[in-house]
Amino acid sequence: MNDQHLDGNAVAGMLGAVLAAEPTTAHITCESCEQGGPVATLTTYLTPMGATLYCPSCGALLLRVAEVNGRVWLSLSGARSLQVSRP
Ligand SMILES: [Zn+2]
Repeated sequence: MNDQHLDGNAVAGMLGAVLAAEPTTAHITCESCEQGGPVATLTTYLTPMGATLYCPSCGALLLRVAEVNGRVWLSLSGARSLQVSRP
């Protein structure tokens, strides 16, 4: 890293591509076993509070999503990466 930094606005285009993409076709990679595939292939459990999605290969928790008071919360704490293709 150097001392010439920008703020988060500098990556608005790339982040916008990730957040605007069709989420089920995004490619997610498991931090635990390094296997990857479309989000649509994750083992999913729905609860009244939200959803937890697990790696189909090793069972690690990859993604949590919940909607509370009009805000959607997303955690990718078990994922190494999430990739989308630009149209
Ligand atoms: Zn895994």
